[in-house]
Amino acid sequence: MHPDLAADLVRLPSLLRSVKEHATAFLEGVEEREVLPSVAAPLAAGLPERGNGLQAALQDFAERWEPGLAASVGPRYWGFVTGGVTPAALAGDWLTAAVDQNSFSSLDGTGQRLEREAISWLRELFGLSRDQEGSLVSGATMSNMVGLAVAREWLGERLGVSPAEEGAGALGAVRVLSGSPHSSVAKSLSMLGLGRASLVTVPTLAGREAVDPVALEAALETGDGPCVVVANAGTVNSGDFDDLRALVRLRGRHDFWLHVDAAFGGFAALSPTSAHLVDGMDAADSICVDLHKWLNVPYDSAVQFTRRQDLQVRVFRNTAAYLGAGGDGADRVHRTPENSQRLRALAAWFTLRAYGRDGHREIVERCMACARSLAASIDGAPGLRMLAPVRLNVVCFTLAENPTAVRLAALTGKAADHVFLSPTVYEGVPALRAAFSNWRTTEADVRSAFEALCESVPGDASSA
Ligand SMILES: *Cc1c(COP(=O)(O)O)cnc(C)c1O
Repeated sequence: MHPDLAADLVRLPSLLRSVKEHATAFLEGVEEREVLPSVAAPLAAGLPERGNGLQAALQDFAERWEPGLAASVGPRYWGFVTGGVTPAALAGDWLTAAVDQNSFSSLDGTGQRLEREAISWLRELFGLSRDQEGSLVSGATMSNMVGLAVAREWLGERLGVSPAEEGAGALGAVRVLSGSPHSSVAKSLSMLGLGRASLVTVPTLAGREAVDPVALEAALETGDGPCVVVANAGTVNSGDFDDLRALVRLRGRHDFWLHVDAAFGGFAALSPTSAHLVDGMDAADSICVDLHKWLNVPYDSAVQFTRRQDLQVRVFRNTAAYLGAGGDGADRVHRTPENSQRLRALAAWFTLRAYGRDGHREIVERCMACARSLAASIDGAPGLRMLAPVRLNVVCFTLAENPTAVRLAALTGKAADHVFLSPTVYEGVPALRAAFSNWRTTEADVRSAFEALCESVPGDASSA
């Protein structure tokens, strides 16, 4: 054994303790840390010929790279839709690496059984029936991609062909209709050989990001043959929701696959005050929910549900003699793009086991309350202006005067020590979004971040 490996093996317990202490110090300091540190990235170093073991690597990481890392795990990183990591989820993720299972088939230990338990908990959490079979994937993009891959195979079934066998070309032109689709839907269609051009944007309701069901029905009537509808349950700009019940009724009259992108909006199901927003979701043919956002597990986790696991297996089936004939279509190797994969379920399992439905409902309700509170403050602030009502956890606002992208960047740059927001454009107006999905965020964070935002409003509206 290489001497550095041998030395680390002997010292493994004490080395892991020092890594734990290092991680603990990072997490203890995260609230004081600049949310987006203003340090320059170090120059990339060459490959070390001799590395000197874990302690040397930890020191190098701490000195060169850690200072520039964002406090995205902390309570005031509100850009994109960014969850944090609950204590139990962190433990689950650490243990995922420690036990390093590749539970892709039933030839392995009990890992797949644990995953199925976690998926059944998630199904209950989101109020879904047992007909919705779940798989874990690396994120909502992959979840949307898998859902749309199953949709593609369903289109084939309707037309008497199998895209999984014959290629996507066997379908001819495909139409995927959606009101305010997330960018990952177009990316998925590109990956699936259906093409970005297959995405048809349908008009939304006036002043909303929710699809207009009348316009959708008109679009369905102009088409010929089966198609796909992507419903949006939680849009990134304004947290708006399509009327899922209305879409399910439309499916009774028109031949389409209903996929719901509920990447973060699916968590509306957790609270009686918001559950109506996802009414009807269970009737969908496929559903995407991210876990590394509002469930607060570390990155690399989303769930994908579908009522047609048989079609899913047709797409992702992976047969090889050395993988064994055992197992069934439910083996994860036959359900997702990856073959070998980490025991991704463990972090979700830990956080659900530790805090239950009640603990996660509290996170969702507190995030929604924080969003409403920030919106109310912005409504009363002279320099700022709300652009959309808060429906869930996203606050979309802009400068009251001359809201250019440059002036908004000046604002976020100045406030970056205290709060991180990401830019967008809402109904043609350059804007900012604050998305609440971190388990640590409280009203005190809203107050301090709001003060920082007010102090950062650029003064002279005529400059820039
Ligand atoms: C975040 C998000 C996605 C993509 O999720 P990733 O986890 O980044 O792959 C898709 N749809 C919606 C609505 C999202 O918010």
